[in-house]
Amino acid sequence: MENENDAWEQLSNIPADPPVMREKCIQCRRPAAVCWCPGLPESPLRPSSRIIILQHPAEVKRCLRTAPMLTLGLEKGKCLTYRGKKFPGFKHDGLLEIFNDPNTILLYPSPDAIPLDQLDIVGLNDQEPYNLILLDGTWPQAKAIYTSSPALSKLRSCKLVNVPTSEYVIRTQPTEGCLSTLESGAIALSILENEPWLKNKLLGPLHYLCRFQLENGAVTHQSKEFLIKQKTYPKLVGKRLAKQLKTLPDNTVV
Ligand SMILES: [Zn+2]
Repeated sequence: MENENDAWEQLSNIPADPPVMREKCIQCRRPAAVCWCPGLPESPLRPSSRIIILQHPAEVKRCLRTAPMLTLGLEKGKCLTYRGKKFPGFKHDGLLEIFNDPNTILLYPSPDAIPLDQLDIVGLNDQEPYNLILLDGTWPQAKAIYTSSPALSKLRSCKLVNVPTSEYVIRTQPTEGCLSTLESGAIALSILENEPWLKNKLLGPLHYLCRFQLENGAVTHQSKEFLIKQKTYPKLVGKRLAKQLKTLPDNTVV
């Protein structure tokens, strides 16, 4: 018995192997094996309007995020990101000026939001380039940002109508027609600029990623709404599974 204890002690004293560092892409910061950079436009796009991403801090920790695809697909200065739960905050340099600009619009389905395609396209009726604000986070996080930032409700808000189902097939969308930040930005920008090709170019990394993940065994997810309607959405998760799920980063494809 003593020998056994000794053996265990010796075993437990063996230093653990250093964690294997997976090589990361310097651009998208994802492990090189799942980098989506080959799907980016050949050179960053330069539309006349700008995208302003207001990002919930928790969004940064997500495993699969689409905002960086937007940032890297657009030329520097054409996509700005501000992080926080309330906007504009003290540290958000330049954001107050953007809020005060009459060309600033918010993409958010508030009760008075008008369909985005009813806005003048850039150049029509002297319409200047837009500052298009997107809220980046899960749906409840976006809602929380909106309710705790009164300045947002003073902005002209608009919504996308008749949007296709998300092409982001890997991540389960909470409702039909719920789009990722990249898709919302790409579709809205191509409508406002009246340049449909902008959308396809910007969605390149998402298409690349989805194709890669599907080819490597990920299951296409239907929206939660669809699964609940079909009564196939699991209502209860066993204790053991819940524990396993907790150890995985959010949105990990299993
Ligand atoms: Zn990359």
